[in-house]
Amino acid sequence: MRVGIIGGGITGLALTHYLAEAGIDSVTFEGSSEAGGVIQTRHVDGRVLEAGPQRMRKTPGVVELAKAAGVEDAFVEAGTEKLYVYADGDLGRAPLSIEEFLRTDLLSWPGKARMLAEVFTRPGMEQESARDLFVRKFGTEAYENFIGPLYGGIYGSDPAEMPAAYALDSLMEREQKAGSFLQAFRKRVGQGSKAPPTSMERGMQQLPNAVAEHYSDRIEFETPVTTVEAVGDQFHVETTDGTETVDHVVCTTPASVTADVLGDIADGVAELDSLRYNPLALVYLDANLDGEGFGYQVGYGEDLHTLGASWNASMFDRDGVHTIFLGGMHEPELVSESDDRLAEIAIEEFETVTGTEASVIDIARLEPGFPAWDQSWWALEDVETPEGIDLATNYTARMGIPSRVREARELAESITDRAENEPAAPSTDANRATPAASDD
Ligand SMILES: Cc1cc2nc3c(=O)[nH]c(=O)nc-3n(C[C@H](O)[C@H](O)[C@H](O)COP(=O)(O)OP(=O)(O)OC[C@H]3O[C@@H](n4cnc5c(N)ncnc54)[C@H](O)[C@@H]3O)c2cc1C
Repeated sequence: MRVGIIGGGITGLALTHYLAEAGIDSVTFEGSSEAGGVIQTRHVDGRVLEAGPQRMRKTPGVVELAKAAGVEDAFVEAGTEKLYVYADGDLGRAPLSIEEFLRTDLLSWPGKARMLAEVFTRPGMEQESARDLFVRKFGTEAYENFIGPLYGGIYGSDPAEMPAAYALDSLMEREQKAGSFLQAFRKRVGQGSKAPPTSMERGMQQLPNAVAEHYSDRIEFETPVTTVEAVGDQFHVETTDGTETVDHVVCTTPASVTADVLGDIADGVAELDSLRYNPLALVYLDANLDGEGFGYQVGYGEDLHTLGASWNASMFDRDGVHTIFLGGMHEPELVSESDDRLAEIAIEEFETVTGTEASVIDIARLEPGFPAWDQSWWALEDVETPEGIDLATNYTARMGIPSRVREARELAESITDRAENEPAAPSTDANRATPAASDD
């Protein structure tokens, strides 16, 4: 059995690792000259700047990958998990436990009482939007002051545009088991088993770079796949370098690329071209902020362009670096503004929120950006891949890096089973997936 993997982001690289461990032959085609996909780290004047994910949970899967690539000593853990929301003109600590909830100044006492009334509300419904569900269950104040900004911030999206059926699938499942969202949240927090937030010494991309180097004999860079054709029981993977014949194809690319590459041989896949992504601009500031935590999101009642800020300096001791996020679903057009304009907005609003002066280190633009998980996601309902082709992507399953690694492991096990001619469990359910409700 020879497997062709399309894409050398974290999913494709983790799959490369697990297949190698299982003794299955594979080749990974990466269109660009770099490993990591959206995990991109820049080094500017000795500073580490993250253009994609700012951190990941240090789960056993992530540690295993790092060990295989020989970089397990390069993890740096965040000292604190404090997260803030800028609401009503002030920074308030987002409640991540029941005690913090009672203390938070992001909510008035009537707002807190309204939240606790969640147990008396009807369960979440697939056809409502994430916003409607949150407002119905927790009230408008809680939604606008922290639930909306924190949840929407994960995707740079607007929860009013995100169908609960996709966006909150796994939360609604947990609600059913626990009886209410709050009970589910309490149980999860009470278990205290969350892996610590982490990065790597040289930044997030150090992990995919190391995995790619370790498996360099299985990866072909600067080799974009153009199409895949079914030929008997096998597949011809057409690349700019020629044709490779494989027995199994796993596609990990962004939706529009998947639509191009597999559109002719998999039902409904051409429609993936319509999946919306939210573009982002990232402005890296140098500031001497006396703050401790991950950073902040901006409440929906505030008249600011800023979506949120990552305090890289506090999280991972990154030498004064603070990352400001602009654009997203709320203002996608902002991403096309000039560097000067983006810098001006970021500096001015950072000072408004934190009272601290800042200067610009660099600016990055991320397109296509975050999967939006909005109404366009209904296109996934019609996706059906033929035997021998799997999608393993952050729009058909959970988005966080640990989940991408976990899906790769499960898929490798399923492919190994098939290679051994044993009946295999279905690997991915492309028709109904859910994004990460947190960054796992
Ligand atoms: C801005 C941002 C912030 C995030 N923050 C976090 C976070 O804090 N924590 C967390 O856990 N997760 C976070 N995520 C989610 C997580 O980083 C991603 O879901 C994950 O890295 C996606 O990996 P992937 O391999 O599935 O896809 P990708 O990274 O998209 O990889 C796909 C690969 O396919 C390649 N490719 C494209 N076209 C072709 C072609 N024709 N042929 C061959 N190769 C091709 C691309 O070059 C790319 O390398 C974030 C995501 C984004 C975008």
